[in-house]
Amino acid sequence: FLHNIAVIGAGMAGLAAARVLQQAGKNVQIFDKGRRPGGRMSSRCNAHGLFDLGAQYFTVRDPDFARLIQSFEQQDVVTRWPQVMASQSGGQWQTQRPEHPRYAGMPSMAVLPEALAESLEIRQQVRITSMTRARSKWVLKDQNGRCWSGFDHVIVAIPAPQAAELLGDVASRFSLPDMSSCWSTWVCLEAPLNMPAGIDTWHGAFLEDSPVLRWAARQQTRPGQPDGERLSLLSRDDWSDRHLEGDSARVADEMVHAFQQAYPEALPAIEAQGAHRWRYAQPRRPADDNAGYVIDMPEGLSLCGDGYIDGRVEAAWLSGTRLARAICNS
Ligand code: FAD
Repeated sequence: FLHNIAVIGAGMAGLAAARVLQQAGKNVQIFDKGRRPGGRMSSRCNAHGLFDLGAQYFTVRDPDFARLIQSFEQQDVVTRWPQVMASQSGGQWQTQRPEHPRYAGMPSMAVLPEALAESLEIRQQVRITSMTRARSKWVLKDQNGRCWSGFDHVIVAIPAPQAAELLGDVASRFSLPDMSSCWSTWVCLEAPLNMPAGIDTWHGAFLEDSPVLRWAARQQTRPGQPDGERLSLLSRDDWSDRHLEGDSARVADEMVHAFQQAYPEALPAIEAQGAHRWRYAQPRRPADDNAGYVIDMPEGLSLCGDGYIDGRVEAAWLSGTRLARAICNS
């Protein structure tokens, strides 16, 4: 009998939940504070090109998710990338073709959540600041004081620390995951990178020796992206936690410097660079129980997101999908 359901957050988890509920005939209204759906899968387009600053690629293990991704692959929404992975370890650079396929949106990650969002009703740039329940119906209030009412059930599909803030005292009833931060730096170079000795090309690299960086990707190697050497660099958790309140220009300088230290060839001149901070990037550890979501049916409240499984795109999708199925079956 639950008919009107609000979903707060149009990331992978909220979108996945909303799709299942809509297919089951529910009225679903999604609210998201961003300009476009996607959350941590969003991409940035600036004068220097297109950059993926959040999720870089994703893996596929669950059979239902595999079916969805296969259909999106046929429609050219996603493609296999990176096909040449590098790793830097013990001062050595090596490449390998990944054993299991990895996927990315084409030309950037944001197209996957945008494709999932197509038939859904999403109110973008609406940040929910409070929620109250009276006579079994929820009322949500946004940043402009506008009220959205009449919901039988609310799904909170936002990073757990933000959910805790939104729910206030109610949050203490749930066990919410802790999340690490991450700085993501984009760099536009004036000339192509020289390749390390013995390597023809690389698309993405795990940087095991660097105390600052964990990952580097060459954006222009993503199918559908324009030419021109563009890097995205991701920091290590402990480094970003220590530099969380740092100045973004300085953070970008330090991350580029760290990449130069990890890379065996001299970097070409830099045309432009910048850094984006993810205060809540990924859960610090996989969740203990594997329901993959939190639900309180009598209270008409549930929570989902990557934090309830682990910090991956597929986990976020699974969390939202499993939660929505549980709501439909209750
Ligand atoms: P989110 O994507 O965070 O979605 C939450 C949404 O809620 C957002 O759209 C936000 O705008 C909205 N929101 C928040 N608060 C409010 C509010 N009060 N009112 C309204 N809306 C609100 N995963 C991989 O599989 N592979 C990778 O390589 C990978 N790399 C990553 C690198 C980085 C730097 C980061 C940050 C993440 C990475 N991930 C990766 C993890 C992946 O991005 C996440 O697991 C997944 O996108 C999480 O989806 P979600 O729906 O749970 O949350």
